[in-house]
Amino acid sequence: MSFKTDIEIAREAKKKPIMEIGEKLGIPAADLLPYGHDKAKVSQDFITSLADRPDGKLILVTAINPTPAGEGKTTTTVGLGDGLNRIGKKAVICIREASLGPNFGMKGGAAGGGYAQVVPMEEMNLHFTGDFHAITSAHNLLSAMIDNHIYWGNSLEIDQRRVVWRRVMDMNDRALRDVVSSLGGVANGFPRQTGFDITVASEVMAILCLSKDLEDLQKRLGDIVVAYTRDRTPIYCRDIKADGAMTVLLKDAMQPNLVQTLENNPAFVHGGPFANIAHGCNSVIATKTALKLGDYVVTEAGFGADLGAEKFFDIKCRKAGLKPAASVLVATVRAMKMNGGVAKADLGAENVAAVKKGCPNLGRHISNVKSFGVPVVVAINHFHSDTDAEIEAVKAYVAEQGAEAIVCKHWAHGSAGIEELAHKVVSMAESGTSNFSPIYPDEMSLFEKIETVAKRIYHADEVIADKSIRAQLKAWEEAGYGHFPVCMAKTQYSFSTDPNLRGAPTGHSVPVREVRLSAGAGFIVVICGEIMTMPGLPRAPAAETIRINESGFVEGLF
Ligand code: ADP
Ligand code: MG
Repeated sequence: MSFKTDIEIAREAKKKPIMEIGEKLGIPAADLLPYGHDKAKVSQDFITSLADRPDGKLILVTAINPTPAGEGKTTTTVGLGDGLNRIGKKAVICIREASLGPNFGMKGGAAGGGYAQVVPMEEMNLHFTGDFHAITSAHNLLSAMIDNHIYWGNSLEIDQRRVVWRRVMDMNDRALRDVVSSLGGVANGFPRQTGFDITVASEVMAILCLSKDLEDLQKRLGDIVVAYTRDRTPIYCRDIKADGAMTVLLKDAMQPNLVQTLENNPAFVHGGPFANIAHGCNSVIATKTALKLGDYVVTEAGFGADLGAEKFFDIKCRKAGLKPAASVLVATVRAMKMNGGVAKADLGAENVAAVKKGCPNLGRHISNVKSFGVPVVVAINHFHSDTDAEIEAVKAYVAEQGAEAIVCKHWAHGSAGIEELAHKVVSMAESGTSNFSPIYPDEMSLFEKIETVAKRIYHADEVIADKSIRAQLKAWEEAGYGHFPVCMAKTQYSFSTDPNLRGAPTGHSVPVREVRLSAGAGFIVVICGEIMTMPGLPRAPAAETIRINESGFVEGLF
């Protein structure tokens, strides 16, 4: 059986003018700033005017630990948004923008898949409305101003060995991970070792996604720690006087982007912080705007629920005062099989025993999400190769866990394939049973916060951290950062820090390798294992086959 590719389906979309999509949400044409015919930003004045309106219900889409078999969180987020509209609800989708660099490596698109996509997908995966370019520029302006400050006499007495602010670029380029800057003589400044991260790993990205408005944005930018003096006194972005100009560069990037699904329903695509060293969710401003405009807002969090949902709840919802009404946990039969030990090449064959064996991974995510007080339903994202017996095995297992699993065929059939889930989500959200609270309070010590996540979410026995790490956490508490949440950076493939340990491991320990302060974003990054902030390209990068074909269409991107 052959299927159309995502890009072929996207190209056949019957798009409506973006003004019509805005009209569905009651956004006056004058408050939509069009970027071409099918993308628009929403004006700040309009967003401000919504303040007194009641909020719709917030639905989180999260997933089991990702496997190479593919889960389809974005596909399900888009499908559910369409499904809710299909059953007569006013629903808005909120997803992240795509990072450009990885598209030329091997990653697929970020606009969903099959018949559950947002369009225009090519643009969304490339330059889109320029937000990430603006973030890159704002970040690098600060970098340039730091070196310039040192060049012109360094009155702040920055220790050049302790400049922690690097540079960014939206490209996978391992050659730039570690570089020496300012080579070439006196006129070029003072050589020092530094490097580049990918734009989505910039703290500016995390800040943009957590800021309420431009004023909050500027304050947070000012709070960024860029360097230290010899006696370890922090130097802030505001000391370099870059916060004002950075805010100017980010002014338009702060406004949410409105696009549409294949079924012409509204979607806000805005922000895209890394899901490891940052929180991995759509922007607060987009989510809050959507909540004022729709009765239901469907949004997603990166990676599996152990990282994505935990950070969505403990960072985004805590900071923005959001109260999710329900959550959807995406699982696939194929991923259950992989968790049950089947190799990727053998996923096509029926294997009920392996499905059953892999289900505990799903079970633990169900109980974890419930531990935040949010009701959860499992969406089985249906693949063509799934058999009835395998699906029944997942359903029976989920029922034993006190939840329900619903088969969803949105990838193949769009909203018509996901009505049952849409009805279930409505009844959960309307039941008023959600009693959300983060799993640790602000006033808990930073180390205890790490332990709480490790023990309650990862089911580890202990957290291992050197004296120097504990001392650093103490020092930050004394400096007034003790109320910050922790942003855990570990492998997305396992509950543990070992990517090969699938299923639902227990008895492991979580080693903390490094802690970093993101003072502007407002969290402490806790690095457990190897985390890459500048990816490389694979041996045969996708870029080698990307081209414009004879008909003028982009080929090879997805
Ligand atoms: P995630 O958001 O979890 O990373 P996506 O929703 O982006 O995953 O989906 C990843 C890829 O898997 C997309 O190319 C999509 O077309 C494909 N995919 C998703 N669901 C299905 C399905 N049910 N059948 C076949 N392919 C699917
Ligand atoms: Mg996704």
